[in-house]
Amino acid sequence: MEKTTQMYEGKAKKVFATNDPDYCIVSYKDDATAFNGLKKGTILGKGAINNRVTNHLMKLLEQNGVPTHFVEELNDRETVVKRVTIVPLEVIVRNIAAGSLSKRLGLPEGVKMKRTVLEYCYKDDDLGDPMVNDYHILAMEWATREELDQIAAYAFKINQLLTDYLKEAGIELIDFKLEFGKTSDGAIVLADEISPDTCRFWDIATHEKLDKDRFRRDLGGVEDAYKEILKRLLGE
Ligand code: UDP
Repeated sequence: MEKTTQMYEGKAKKVFATNDPDYCIVSYKDDATAFNGLKKGTILGKGAINNRVTNHLMKLLEQNGVPTHFVEELNDRETVVKRVTIVPLEVIVRNIAAGSLSKRLGLPEGVKMKRTVLEYCYKDDDLGDPMVNDYHILAMEWATREELDQIAAYAFKINQLLTDYLKEAGIELIDFKLEFGKTSDGAIVLADEISPDTCRFWDIATHEKLDKDRFRRDLGGVEDAYKEILKRLLGE
């Protein structure tokens, strides 16, 4: 498969068209942003780590009945994925209070939620990715009722699979963000990435943060945290 034209450049990835209209190639960058692009930086080695970690977790999900866009890892930073139309939603799953939920509800970080919390945000940088609910999503026709039910069911299933898997590696899954896409035949599949950029990972024993919060909050040891996740999940 050959890269042709660049279709899109986001904050952390580039997406290229290929000679086959059903496939794209994503290329992960070391660039990091936070607070809707206000904070910018570089996390050395991040692109390669996020590529490997994402593909590893997507394969695990596929094996357990969650369809994903993953096709084939090409090299350190690049992966072939199915071409999809992205549903313009950030699907956020929360097991433990942290980040914007803690702020919004006045809950200290680390408080376990009595039930898993699912949130949707409309993907629009100019609007600051506002939180929306089912009614907004249906009224704006970002997804149909059936698609949204499928997305929610996948999100809960992914949460269960990842929580159990990560626990084995001594990692607590605090919260994470998913994006879904629609293939040309109308199927909903998991897209985007699952990495320390998009998940909160805490060490189970010490509660040390092993994710992008180290960058967002200037905690230091950013590169080492990403490396630690790679090591615990892929043994390298
Ligand atoms: N998240 C993300 N991209 C976003 C916003 C959030 O990947 O644009 C992830 C974030 O890493 C965390 C979860 O979604 O794992 C919940 O994030 P939160 O709403 O607490 O926002 P934050 O505090 O990161 O601004």
